[in-house]
Amino acid sequence: MNIQQLKGIGEKTAALLSRLSVYTVKDLVGLYPRAYDVYEKPVFVQEAVEEHASEIVSIEAVVARNVEQYSTPRMKVLSTVVRDEQGTSLKCTWFNMPFLRSSLKPGAHYVFRGQLAKKKGSFVLEQPQMYTMAAYAQLQGSMQPIYPLTKGLSNKTVAKAVKQALEKYDTCLEKEYIPVDIRSAYQLAEHNFAVQRIHFPQSQEDYLQSRKRLAFEEFFLFVLAVRNMKEKNTHRLNEYRILNDARTDKFISELEFELTDAQKKTWEEIKENMSGSALMSRLIQGDVGSGKTIIAVLALMNTAFAGYQGAMMVPTEVLAKQQYESICSMFEKHQIPLKVVLLMGSMTAAQKRAVYEQIRTHEADIVVGTHAVIQEKAVYDKLALVITDEQHRFGVEQRSQLAEKGTCPHKLVMSATPIPRTLALMIYGDLDLSILGELPNGRKPIETYAVTGKLRERAYNFIQKQLEQGRQAYIVCPTIEEGDNNLQAVKQYAKQVQEGAFSAYSVGLLHGKLKANEKDAVMQAFRDNEIQVLVCTTVVEVGVDVPNATVMMIEDAERFGLSQLHQLRGRVGRGDAQSYCILVTDHVTDACRQRMQIMSRMRDGFQIAEADLKLRGPGDFFGERQHGLPPLKAADMMKDMELIRETEQAAEQLLQDDPTLQQPGNQGLRLEVLRLFAKTGENGVIL
Ligand code: ADP
Ligand code: MG
Repeated sequence: MNIQQLKGIGEKTAALLSRLSVYTVKDLVGLYPRAYDVYEKPVFVQEAVEEHASEIVSIEAVVARNVEQYSTPRMKVLSTVVRDEQGTSLKCTWFNMPFLRSSLKPGAHYVFRGQLAKKKGSFVLEQPQMYTMAAYAQLQGSMQPIYPLTKGLSNKTVAKAVKQALEKYDTCLEKEYIPVDIRSAYQLAEHNFAVQRIHFPQSQEDYLQSRKRLAFEEFFLFVLAVRNMKEKNTHRLNEYRILNDARTDKFISELEFELTDAQKKTWEEIKENMSGSALMSRLIQGDVGSGKTIIAVLALMNTAFAGYQGAMMVPTEVLAKQQYESICSMFEKHQIPLKVVLLMGSMTAAQKRAVYEQIRTHEADIVVGTHAVIQEKAVYDKLALVITDEQHRFGVEQRSQLAEKGTCPHKLVMSATPIPRTLALMIYGDLDLSILGELPNGRKPIETYAVTGKLRERAYNFIQKQLEQGRQAYIVCPTIEEGDNNLQAVKQYAKQVQEGAFSAYSVGLLHGKLKANEKDAVMQAFRDNEIQVLVCTTVVEVGVDVPNATVMMIEDAERFGLSQLHQLRGRVGRGDAQSYCILVTDHVTDACRQRMQIMSRMRDGFQIAEADLKLRGPGDFFGERQHGLPPLKAADMMKDMELIRETEQAAEQLLQDDPTLQQPGNQGLRLEVLRLFAKTGENGVIL
């Protein structure tokens, strides 16, 4: 139902609401308050200043003086003193509200509710609203919703519209779909009750109950969906028994490095999976630089030697090209007679056609590419293994899409996103887990320094010294959106350092707006050391490997999340040489300083991620794209760990009785789970 059918919502308000993604009455009901105004019992002035300094407080008092009015150049100020029953006085001020004057007669008795602040050593109640005793008594104890707003849209308008929607159109509410025994086991309020009370809780208890129910259902549906994927996988017979090949062992023994213990263990687990009776479905989690790629290569080799095909999907074309080339050169060097092909969306139709043909005829043993590798047109002869690199860039949606590709290949996903374990279990609950918890030997920790722009010249000098030693450097400039201005700035930057600090060297420029072949050319030149300084946007964030690069300088470092900084930093320190990371920021707030300190001190991606979570809150950290979770409206990733455990337990119990949610009592739930991934199209259907 269109939002404009509500009284008081015209075209203009509807347009404003659409900015909050609210188009229908149902969307409006789904717009939960971001906070609440709580109307507490009034307190005495003394208690207010002792315990609630700088909070919003309510104080019952009488006006004790004639109101004063004065003007500053910018505003008219009313000021008076009120006195409570204990005889304590408090100054109150109002800005630009001269009309209040008539209500502020000495002796007038109100509840004053406003912001308490300390000004020049004494307390002031700022802009208090005034309520008669009776009016306040009505409000007291209630929580008034505060909605996410946009300029021009008032909280009152939204609250009124929501109220109307809830009262008049109960059709926009859902039917209860969590089975009654789960609701009673976990003490969950009914869905419709919860939706109503999340908007207008009549008490704190009401609010807590409602939020718990709504958060539970958000997690619950997701967990069910993920569990179901896992069920499906573990019951899938392994149609591709892939035994270890002696040629792969030989290849390992001839590598210029020895696998770390963690790599060895992971490789054993993979071999066991692939030769076992059930299909492999495994996540490899390892910090940047832990050596995930070689593991992927080994799995692809065994697959190809067994007479099957393997595909490896990576999130960017730069990375696809790089992985392709490094696999090709490895195979060449070790004389591995396998055919590797590259497939990317940006290739010409004719190029793609040629590759599709190689895939179809099995001329290609291994296909490396962007998500083109799993799209319809790529028809494999015998696809037995699909690897997804840098998994965190793909959503659950693509994971399920992958699961549907081919008959039913083995699945290996690799991720450098360090997320707390509980979350990993929820998000990747459908996968077995291998952890690459150590970096290869001989890696020196990357020395990290945070500096302000004033020291930029010194940083350049430092980089010059590295260049003199034959090393290379990255300089990353943020582009939040690749808008033209921003892009201009990056280009300008590159030009400036080419003509200035690094005039003796070749400076390259890499950004998202370049055509694929242009990107390739730049990346290739950097890898071949024809370019010594690469000025770039975050296109390099993921997976790029140029071991000779030893400096990562990041401009406007405050604009990045810590985990992203860690990923960027991981682009250096990939060889034996000492590497450096220089964070440049002119933001000298405490929060920023704290973040830069964390970067300088911590090396472990997991620790950094946790610190990042604490500092930024999960909203930013877990952007939808990063983890594939549907957006959470009521639930909170960090605060609701316990609830996550409960939902997992509940899901497990439920699926034990009814693994595919076929029982009549579970139909509502089944539909909701389906709906969760409905936007993914046919491939997303997982039940
Ligand atoms: P990531 O886990 O970030 O994908 P890569 O697989 O790209 O890391 O590996 C980073 C670098 O470490 C590569 O240059 C790779 O050749 C090298 N490497 C991988 N394993 C080892 C090892 N066991 N010993 C030494 N170097 C290794
Ligand atoms: Mg990698």
